[in-house]
Amino acid sequence: MNEASVWQSVLGEIELSVTRGSYITWFKNSELIEINNGRAVVGVSNIFAREQMQTKFNQQILTILQKVSKEVATIEYVISSAARKTTTNASNETSSNSKPRDETPLPTNPDSTQYSYASRAVSPGQAPSRTNRPTSAGNPSGLNARYTFETFIVGGSNELAFAASQAAAKHPGTKCNPLFIYGGVGLGKTHLIQAVGNEIKRNDPESRILYTSCETFVNEFLDSIRFKKQGFAERYRKVDVLIIDDIQFIAGKQATQEGFFHTFNALHQANKQIIISSDQPPKSIPTLEERLRSRFEWGMSIDMQLPDFETRCAILQTKAAGHNVTLDRATIEYIASNIQTNIRELEGALNKLLTYCEMSGSVPDAQTAAGLITDVRTTRPRHLTAKQIVEKTARHFQLEPAEMMSPKRDKHIVGPRQIAMYLLRSELHLSFPRIANELGRKDHTTAIHSVDKIEKSIKLDQMTRQQVANIRELLYG
Ligand code: ADP
Ligand code: MG
Repeated sequence: MNEASVWQSVLGEIELSVTRGSYITWFKNSELIEINNGRAVVGVSNIFAREQMQTKFNQQILTILQKVSKEVATIEYVISSAARKTTTNASNETSSNSKPRDETPLPTNPDSTQYSYASRAVSPGQAPSRTNRPTSAGNPSGLNARYTFETFIVGGSNELAFAASQAAAKHPGTKCNPLFIYGGVGLGKTHLIQAVGNEIKRNDPESRILYTSCETFVNEFLDSIRFKKQGFAERYRKVDVLIIDDIQFIAGKQATQEGFFHTFNALHQANKQIIISSDQPPKSIPTLEERLRSRFEWGMSIDMQLPDFETRCAILQTKAAGHNVTLDRATIEYIASNIQTNIRELEGALNKLLTYCEMSGSVPDAQTAAGLITDVRTTRPRHLTAKQIVEKTARHFQLEPAEMMSPKRDKHIVGPRQIAMYLLRSELHLSFPRIANELGRKDHTTAIHSVDKIEKSIKLDQMTRQQVANIRELLYG
């Protein structure tokens, strides 16, 4: 076997044993460069991935690798150019010897407990109590004290963004400059970039930090021209840390782009930290001047992905704890499996539930949650059973139900089996051990992995979406 196929088979096993988010973030673009004298050299895309591999996954990788290639005794992780050609780019991270962080370790490997990522969460006693503080006089930095690293839950979908943000907070202006974080609505961009500001402020209260929305920036810029107001350039150029949220609003605004370009250069040259968020990567922002685009790509640009099921559960658990409420697992899982794409909505659903229960003097449970979350499919027939789901899914793929329940791992069976697991979850809200059991599996982590995987594919892949829709037709039609 050559390196590529050895690594392919290692990745195949890893993919089954870590969360989808971890897999995509840390493993997807890795490569095996060589095996020489018992030492395997693995290429990864950046220093964060390297640190993760060394501290968190090394033993796991080694064990799997030794199955394929007995001679391997140790693994060395290097940052390789092939692995770097990824969605994240780390062009500033040239010094491969520099240790990224030595303070807060990333979440340690789950002993496969459900809510492993909750470890970083605030404990019930220290809820984020300060309320939203809008940008105003009296708060010249524009930061909201509620947005801190401590209140940010880390999971596979945001691990890399979190690590880079911490690095930027620890060494402002030197690493990850600019730090460019992009991703969909409600995924925690504002929270994270403000957390950097708050952390820098905490470490150095003298530091001049300015957080502003891009809209405010644009308006102030235009005012300064229209009314010949003084002070615009100074206001932005005298800061130590400039945080601009939702930079996509600068698209098409040529004069503002010009103004921002000069501000950017002045700050960057003076080694001041610049942090930017956007709903898309620099290369996709329409009508963004080329020179700005290339500057945004100088440092580190990282995407935040949709939170996986585990992370959603951890967030709910933590936010409930912040209200001094402990929700049972069924309730958390119900909300987390019905709201998948947006953490703001997840919070909204939780708040609705807690408010309702407080007013009605009832204890929050899955049933109440179901009544309050509006977009739940209301047409679900009462009589739908697990057996029917497995049968209809099998039929859709022209398989026998027995094949779905068999130990076989052929590709044409694994996919349908995962979809059946997903449907058992989404339609009947069965527990993971039950789901595993319905498909003849002993290990419930297979069910967790499958549900998570299909949840993701539904969002990214038209074919899966269509297949699931067709099976639902079969079930309810
Ligand atoms: P975005 O700027 O990407 O649209 P926000 O940062 O405004 O998203 O996040 C929306 C809400 O969800 C905020 O209240 C934020 O605190 C919360 N949130 C997002 N991600 C997380 C997370 N990983 N942990 C805890 N809360 C989060
Ligand atoms: Mg935002």
